[in-house]
Amino acid sequence: MSSVMRLRCMKCGTEYDPSEVRDTCPICGNDGILEVLYDYDRIRPLLTRETLEGNRDLSMWRYLPLLPIDQRPASLTLQIGWTPLYKSRRIGPTLGLDHVWFKDDGRNPTASLKDRASAIAIAKATELDKHVLTAATTGNAGSSLAGLAANAGLDAYIFVPASAPAGKIAQLQVFGSHLFLVLGNYDQAFDLCVEATERFGWYNRNTAFNPYMVEGKKTVALEIAEQLNFEEPDKVIVPVGDGCIISGVAKGFRDLLALGLIRHIPQLIAVQAEGCAPIARAVISGEPIEYLEHPASCADSIVAGIPRNHLMALRDIKDTDGLAITVSDDEIIDALGFLGRNEGIFAEPAAAASVAALRKLAGNVLHPEDRIVVLITGNGLKDIQNALKVKGISMSIPPRMDAVEQAIEEGF
Ligand SMILES: [Zn+2]
Repeated sequence: MSSVMRLRCMKCGTEYDPSEVRDTCPICGNDGILEVLYDYDRIRPLLTRETLEGNRDLSMWRYLPLLPIDQRPASLTLQIGWTPLYKSRRIGPTLGLDHVWFKDDGRNPTASLKDRASAIAIAKATELDKHVLTAATTGNAGSSLAGLAANAGLDAYIFVPASAPAGKIAQLQVFGSHLFLVLGNYDQAFDLCVEATERFGWYNRNTAFNPYMVEGKKTVALEIAEQLNFEEPDKVIVPVGDGCIISGVAKGFRDLLALGLIRHIPQLIAVQAEGCAPIARAVISGEPIEYLEHPASCADSIVAGIPRNHLMALRDIKDTDGLAITVSDDEIIDALGFLGRNEGIFAEPAAAASVAALRKLAGNVLHPEDRIVVLITGNGLKDIQNALKVKGISMSIPPRMDAVEQAIEEGF
């Protein structure tokens, strides 16, 4: 049995038994995102440094006692989570920062952090005996759900803006999901998906709607802490769109603190793209959030003009004494190349946004002795068009050795 005790509305604070509600708070509607409350006393003996040391399951399921499911879904065999945490070789030292790590979640089966949430969706749908799942997506959540559903033998209906990068559309096609290419933006795709969920009785994987998705995403924080031998970082840099990943990171660290496995919750640094920064602007100005009707950025994964999880994200940034920053598309593309050249990690633009933030904040907010984790949320192969904007070291030559020799002599 899972150790979930109650679901609590983020907005009005009403608590529910998990059997009473499935998605948002009935009183508050779509704004009333529910948080999962656990019985930590029950979990504490089940999840200790010792039990984890003896656990050979190197995937997100190693944290099962702290997940809102009874058991890991037997139908899902892809390896999700336990992605590498790399100590920075060159970027940290170049920026005068001694302790920088990259958590490369592009190494998940569908190449993004979203697999952590999709895995929980598959588990919950299986518990409820639902065979059709749905999601609205800027690309990654959908391709993730499609891939995991394919592995588990379930059906998926995905609502994606027709403008999503080709790599993500390709994944959706390859994984055989039913694909609605919505001639509109992500916010419209989201509303349509919620409506279709009602109409057809599907299982909905949308974060900031389904309360359990944050619980999957939080496993990235659990891993970061464990991979650092429970000497938690001081700061974690997180790309922000809807605000669900940053809330997942906060939840993971809060859980660990409640279990006595860490001593403090790291400061969360939210990064948004200049062309779509409603959460960052609200944090920086202290004013209420203002939605954007026409958000635009190359970092498609974090383009959400109406951030569905903004209430929770803003609270989590504030509670962790965190901050927010915006980065331009030029800075993002530049950071994408900077990360690739210096560390051998290929990030999609949204993920490179956190590296752009690291660069911008080094020397002022970030100090040499700070322990900093930079979250790489998705792989660069998902968006080749933007990756090609990075200037490589290339030249065209005829297929002859003298051309190579001449190039080398000229210092190529
Ligand atoms: Zn409520």
